[in-house]
Amino acid sequence: MAKLVDARDSKSRGGDTVSVRIRPSAPVNGLRVSSKNQNPCIFCKIINKEIPSKIIKETDSVLVIEDIAPKAPVHYLVLPKKHIQNLSLLAQDDYEYVLHTIKVINELSQELVPPAAFNVIANNGAGAGQSVFHLHWHFISGKNIYDGGFSL
Ligand code: 5GP
Ligand code: ZN
Repeated sequence: MAKLVDARDSKSRGGDTVSVRIRPSAPVNGLRVSSKNQNPCIFCKIINKEIPSKIIKETDSVLVIEDIAPKAPVHYLVLPKKHIQNLSLLAQDDYEYVLHTIKVINELSQELVPPAAFNVIANNGAGAGQSVFHLHWHFISGKNIYDGGFSL
């Protein structure tokens, strides 16, 4: 019986006929995730430039955008380009992405006008205030969030 394989590696099977299927959320081109018209996640759509955002920084595996409703003078969202739900649901392959987000946070902190005081927050789960279920770090500066009245 023909083996079911992903369309991207089904080009040639030595003359065998194979059935193919598409895995829409599988990584494409290494780190990029394709979610075109398949994945309802708003951050995946932003990563794929299907909806606009103010981009602060971009690497192969991380996108930094300005939060649409900033709660501080600097309020960025640091997004892994892979759809990861949150920090409690990391697969082995996800650690590389999380590490890259930390590297980019380090770069962002170097770019702040000194003194470079900042907060990094990830809400994990609806009960902790997560409203977009694609892992992201809030990068916040220019406001002491412990002064009171602050919520994400
Ligand atoms: P959470 O509540 O999941 O920790 O954070 C989600 C953040 O995403 C919120 O601060 C919210 O303002 C931001 N956000 C939601 N939708 C959009 C959007 O379409 N564009 C941008 N740039 N930020 C968004
Ligand atoms: Zn996503």
